Amino acid sequence: MAIRKICRVGDPVLRQKAEPVVKVSQKIKDLLADMAATMYAAPGVGLAAPQIGVNKRVIVVDVGDGLLELVNPVIVKQSGRVTATEGCLSVPGLVGDVTRAYEVVVRALDKKGRQVEITATDLLARALQHEIDHLDGILFIDKAENIREAAEEKEGE
Ligand code: ZN
Repeated sequence: MAIRKICRVGDPVLRQKAEPVVKVSQKIKDLLADMAATMYAAPGVGLAAPQIGVNKRVIVVDVGDGLLELVNPVIVKQSGRVTATEGCLSVPGLVGDVTRAYEVVVRALDKKGRQVEITATDLLARALQHEIDHLDGILFIDKAENIREAAEEKEGE
């Protein structure tokens, strides 16, 4: 397990569409472990593989209710709209107000390669949407209004 360097806005890896994972191999399990370590060290509440320079559809999220390690996550259902302040570990020093679905259902593979379905609301739903955006090369600053300097008000994702 290793803490990896987090890529910052301007790095082209953050703007690529990440590749689906074909098999949840040991290499992917190692990637998940490194991503979790990197997220907790930052500290942040979520991290997507492109943020550490790996062009794969892999995310980790922990908003305080435990670690989710998801491979090939897809939003299959969403409802409600809510606006809240967001930041990003790849866009240090800035926050903005982003409108996202209040509730999402996400389908993915877990680290054992089993299909899982997660229903999430509020902060967890927001973190999942933010991380899945990273897999499509989308950053929160593309969607945010009122982008401003962070005053230690929000942890990064
Ligand atoms: Zn982010």
